[in-house]
Amino acid sequence: METIRVNLKEEIDNSYVILIDEGLFDNLANELKQKPLGNYYAIITDTNVGKVYGKKLLENLQSKNINAHLITSQAGEKGKTRKTKEKIEDEMLELGLGRDSCIIALGGGVVGDLAGFVAATYMRGIPYIQVPTSLLAMGDSSIGGKVAVDTLHAKNVIGAFYQPKKVIIDLNFLRTLPKSELANGMAEVIKHALIKDKDFFHFLEKNIDKIMDLEILKKTIKRSCEIKADIIMQDEKEKGLRRILNYGHTIGHAIEAALSYKISHGNAIAIGMSYAAKLSAKKGFLHEGSVIRQNNLMEYIGLPHRLSHHKLKPRKILGNIQYDKKIVDGKINFVLLNSIGDAFVSDEITLDDIKQILE
Ligand code: ADP
Ligand code: ZN
Repeated sequence: METIRVNLKEEIDNSYVILIDEGLFDNLANELKQKPLGNYYAIITDTNVGKVYGKKLLENLQSKNINAHLITSQAGEKGKTRKTKEKIEDEMLELGLGRDSCIIALGGGVVGDLAGFVAATYMRGIPYIQVPTSLLAMGDSSIGGKVAVDTLHAKNVIGAFYQPKKVIIDLNFLRTLPKSELANGMAEVIKHALIKDKDFFHFLEKNIDKIMDLEILKKTIKRSCEIKADIIMQDEKEKGLRRILNYGHTIGHAIEAALSYKISHGNAIAIGMSYAAKLSAKKGFLHEGSVIRQNNLMEYIGLPHRLSHHKLKPRKILGNIQYDKKIVDGKINFVLLNSIGDAFVSDEITLDDIKQILE
């Protein structure tokens, strides 16, 4: 027998910066002129964001003689599919975009996940930058390189870990973001406080009446990004620590699926987090008082913390959790809180525990 060893141990530097300010979007063409990331740019956006910002970026780039093209897909989670990905890729191929191209993901979390996944596989990988326009994307999904599309069976199950070259957060985008979407994004921000930073949680509580002011939002987004970046630096590919980012998501995802994704992700995980907190208290980890504080903050922001409004039977949610691949021997990897700011993954939670909490 002949043995040929293929040695592939390599050191990869996936480092990148997250820039946060007002006015970064207007300066983006300038910046790419000075520090190009490719010879051709594909701006991928959705129908809502494209209308307000897509054309503007295209014009800014073209006015600096930078080759660019605008690719617009249907807004909303429904468009985050393999079909849409294929359409975008075909459009890029028809334009003759090669390996020297760069993608600009301009939009909310849906665009970021989709465009990032296109970048991961187009010509076996081209660079991309994240330009998040929703609060959810700014404070959470644009960082960490989790890119994916949904299928009929589940969310985000086809994808990759593929880091952007840069994340550019321009707070001015938030001026046109619908109020309901602000609340939606705040759910992930609160999650970051709950799992990792009690001082940040106090900050949110203290500033609750001006929490949607731009100055407060700037601090909020910065801290949210720092927490997420810190976790990702320790565990890029979710082998351990990164799992705590799933706080509220086991029940949250099951609720989304049970409601055929007619509930927003932020609302679903807000409910999921509230049940996760209750379970943490029931198991003797978290103080009852902390559960109440978590719920109060959610409520103030306009996020739900109960299932009852949605006329959803616990049985349906349990059914969906049962399909989850994280279940081993009837036990679920479930994120609980020890206290506000301190999360851990428990493998002791059973479906029966969840059933009792939901009821
Ligand atoms: P998320 O960001 O919550 O993951 P989406 O990407 O679907 O979800 O964004 C939520 C909605 O907000 C979409 O309809 C999207 O087109 C819209 N949107 C995103 N950013 C802005 C913005 N800055 N101004 C107006 N609408 C926006
Ligand atoms: Zn989430």
